Amino acid sequence: MSLYNVLDRHVLLPLGDLFYGSEITRQWRKLRCSEFRPYQEILEFQNEKLRKLIKHCYVSVPYYHKLFDSLGIRPDDIQNKEDLCKLPVLTKQIIRDNYSDMFSTAVNPKRFRKSSTGGSTGTPLQFCMDSHEWSFQRASSLRAWESYGLHLGDKIFSFGGNSIAQKKDALSLKNIYDRVIMRNYKFNSSEVDENSLMCHLESFKRIKPSAVRGYGSSLAIFARFIKGTGYKPSGIKVVLTTGEVLMPNYRKELEDVFAAPVFDAYGAGDGGIVSHECDCHNGLHITEELCIIEITDKEGKNLPDGEMGFVTSTDLENYAFPFIRYHVGDMSYIKKEACTCGRHTRQFGEVMGRAGKLLYNKQGVPLSPTMLPIMLYPNLDYHSIENQIEYNKIDRFQIRQDKQGDIHILLKMKDGLSDIPIRDSIIENYQKHFVGSKVELTIVDEIPLLASGKEDYCVSEYKYIHS
Ligand SMILES: [Zn+2]
Repeated sequence: MSLYNVLDRHVLLPLGDLFYGSEITRQWRKLRCSEFRPYQEILEFQNEKLRKLIKHCYVSVPYYHKLFDSLGIRPDDIQNKEDLCKLPVLTKQIIRDNYSDMFSTAVNPKRFRKSSTGGSTGTPLQFCMDSHEWSFQRASSLRAWESYGLHLGDKIFSFGGNSIAQKKDALSLKNIYDRVIMRNYKFNSSEVDENSLMCHLESFKRIKPSAVRGYGSSLAIFARFIKGTGYKPSGIKVVLTTGEVLMPNYRKELEDVFAAPVFDAYGAGDGGIVSHECDCHNGLHITEELCIIEITDKEGKNLPDGEMGFVTSTDLENYAFPFIRYHVGDMSYIKKEACTCGRHTRQFGEVMGRAGKLLYNKQGVPLSPTMLPIMLYPNLDYHSIENQIEYNKIDRFQIRQDKQGDIHILLKMKDGLSDIPIRDSIIENYQKHFVGSKVELTIVDEIPLLASGKEDYCVSEYKYIHS
């Protein structure tokens, strides 16, 4: 570790906490101690926090008070995570309809931090977290990054959309905090023309970062550009991807160009979800000190481990604007097997992306387009080597849904291949999710561009009408 690492950890971060009203140092220390806790202890810890949260909600959050009364539920009826199913799921629409009733009257509004889900994923949801929750989420990332060998004070080159990229006001308190303490240098990934990429690369060379962070697809564009210039980055310890499904070909490209391992993450500020890959790279360890995750069907019924469903989160730390059994809008499953790294927290398998411009099947179940690429794999498992070998035979693809809701998968193969051996599995995966839709798969020479001239792997003309 360098002198800056030591200074940052022991002086700058605690000072930042004091100045900024956060408590990252304290939360980080606590999280480091609980990293390898036995699962039974994690459960007890969660249940204790849950009971406290439920009481708090009943006493001070008008929405939950009314909800509990209308269901005839007393706070004591919720003793552990199994009892959560007595409560209905919380949707974005319910939050919008009851917005002013979602705030706790017991938390000082000075501690509120306004936030919103990304505007790129449909209508943004406004919500609030208290500074305690905010700190916890950051501390959780620091814990994971440290396990990758990346220390606070190491420079991070971030390349992403609005949620990652730097806002215009470079002298704002937040940006100074980001730059001096988090050492996070942010660049906007929507600027991917040749000139912008060249400017980004010049900055990259000047900064000499230890880590690269961003959306997998954006980083892959940058990586390809770097490769094209013949420049070989060195000194990168890790590549951190987040915000969307990380495709295996992107992972490989990033590892090759940056000569560093890739660690994927999935999180949702609304719902208090933070999850990270470990060295085993076979799923995403949930920070279970922070949230209780259930995988449920649309109505909120729990599904067994291994089964794909809606990610439903109870945020154990957000006392300002509590989320109980919140449907985040993403789909995933919990891995059946425990990880071999020694951590006992459960792991998400594939997370089917942030719900953006949703597609609907004929039953009205929304499917995120970021889920569609995953459905090209047998068993939906993109970590499997065999699946990756098959996938790597595909040059490009497009999934089209017509006005009737039928699905047409177009694949352009590499090396003039005229078929794909996993054709039946692909069709099967699609039929499972698009029940009642006809599913066709065609190998084509070219993938058609959209009317706008842009490329897109997902095109839908189908409008599901709620009956
Ligand atoms: Zn692990």
